[in-house]
Amino acid sequence: MHDGDVVGAEPEVVQARLDNQCQVLQEAWQTHLTDGRPASLDRFRGAAATLSVMAKEQELARISELALMLEVMCGAVVEGEEPVTEEFQDTITHYLRSLGAQCRQAMYRPAPPPQPAAQVLALTDSQALADDVEQQLGHFGYELIHVASTAEMEQCLRRTPPRVVMLDPERLGGPDVVIDLADRLREQLGGELPILLVTDSPSMETRLAAARAGLAAYLLKPVSFDELVDLLALFQPDRQPEPYRILVVEDSPTQARYISTVLERAGMSVTVVGNPMEVLEVLEARNVDLILTDMYMPDCTGYELASVIRQIPRHASIPIVYLSGETKLERQLRAMSRGGDDFLTKPIEPDHLVQAISIRAERGRMLRGMMVTDGLTGLLNHTRLKEELEAEVARAQRRSSTVSFAMIDLDYFKGVNDTFGHAAGDRVLKTLAGLLRQRLRRTDSIGRYGGEEFGVILPDADVEEAIKVLDRIRQRFADIRHAGPEGPFRVTFSAGVASYPDCSDATQLTMEADMALYAAKRAGRNAIRAGRPSRG
Ligand code: GH3
Ligand code: MG
Ligand code: MG
Ligand code: MG
Repeated sequence: MHDGDVVGAEPEVVQARLDNQCQVLQEAWQTHLTDGRPASLDRFRGAAATLSVMAKEQELARISELALMLEVMCGAVVEGEEPVTEEFQDTITHYLRSLGAQCRQAMYRPAPPPQPAAQVLALTDSQALADDVEQQLGHFGYELIHVASTAEMEQCLRRTPPRVVMLDPERLGGPDVVIDLADRLREQLGGELPILLVTDSPSMETRLAAARAGLAAYLLKPVSFDELVDLLALFQPDRQPEPYRILVVEDSPTQARYISTVLERAGMSVTVVGNPMEVLEVLEARNVDLILTDMYMPDCTGYELASVIRQIPRHASIPIVYLSGETKLERQLRAMSRGGDDFLTKPIEPDHLVQAISIRAERGRMLRGMMVTDGLTGLLNHTRLKEELEAEVARAQRRSSTVSFAMIDLDYFKGVNDTFGHAAGDRVLKTLAGLLRQRLRRTDSIGRYGGEEFGVILPDADVEEAIKVLDRIRQRFADIRHAGPEGPFRVTFSAGVASYPDCSDATQLTMEADMALYAAKRAGRNAIRAGRPSRG
């Protein structure tokens, strides 16, 4: 999340907004009940969508889900797929009541305690090093606790266990002492605490001692902050791996229930589609790691479905697994030739099913990861970022909300490469990627647009808000010292920002952001400019 206030860091502000949106929703429904017009129902749907996103951002999963249900139910009616019936109205009223109660509960729930900053405990008697690390790590949201003696350190450890310990043993007695210390630390805190050694000794002996002490990293002085920040990110406490998302295509409800129960118990997230004709729609709407499909279904068989999916390049890497009673090897092989990846036969043991699906899903996810991310920075690649922008603009259109797009370009980067070498240049790119990831919300999309250009999508932020957030990042970035062969150097960036609905579509947005970027460059660089509204 931003350290700024695009989504409202103040809990009271957040609650007031949630409360307000709940009101808007209730009123929209009343209006629709009175006038019975599709337009008012559509406004109600928009309000539900907004509430769902707001709640999700506040990690109020239940409210978000209820609001999403409302949005989806109205969708079918607004699109004319379903008539407005009394039953429909009753259901909505029922949901609204439940939603209102949930919102009130959330409102009076005590605000969650603020997330403590990730702490780095540094044992060093060099005040200069401590100050330096503190200042540089601060840009990335880490907090440094400086201790000058082992006694002081042990006291600190008893209070809050840090995420990482940094040892600078020079005047604390050399490598032997470090091994001892590392052992003691582990005894106190368990083997999981990463310990980094900072030293100016490149010798094999010290390295060996560090390896034997089981230290997590060996950093040579002067400390490269880019490297340090990379390491710290590596030591983030395990983010729960996302569950595999499995799409089950099965016309028999009983079979479908059996399969989804087995997979869900194994921690996977399962979507069931009973009609193969709906699969493409589902694939448009959500990311899927694997498709598990029945073979014989009305309208379209499993292998016909596979052929259709493979016609679409974006879906070409999704693994498709057949699960069928078909035992004839020849037919199985023919099905596989249409783009299937595996053939499982019913009845199937739960364990076998889970295992076969996990392995394929992991591979599918890896392939997808390679297709959509940039190798150097791990950010979204150009194609994916553009797709994401299209999707976000469409979403903003549906919800009558805003979305901003920023183009970021490093200043005089050719000179950086020429002076400090291409490898140092690459490190700078990775550092900026890391900073953007640390400082933007989870709902923002960040991509590498091209060589030394980045693109950022900020949903629900208008130009002013986006500029505020990016400008803070700009200042922090300008302050970071990058490691060069002859000492540290600094780099700046410029950015251009444009927003929907000021710009009418993704193409306009990109053009305006690009022009604004050029304006920032002309204005002398290390600056951010807003694009002009280009509507009408
Ligand atoms: P300006 O402030 O006008 O943007 O100047 P600039 O030097 O940054 O712009 P220019 O477009 O002339 O040069 C961009 C440079 O970025 C050229 C290239 O050497 C460098 N670059 C592009 N991709 C990479 C990369 O992947 N790694 C490294 N190290 N450098 C890259
Ligand atoms: Mg069937
Ligand atoms: Mg450029
Ligand atoms: Mg540049």
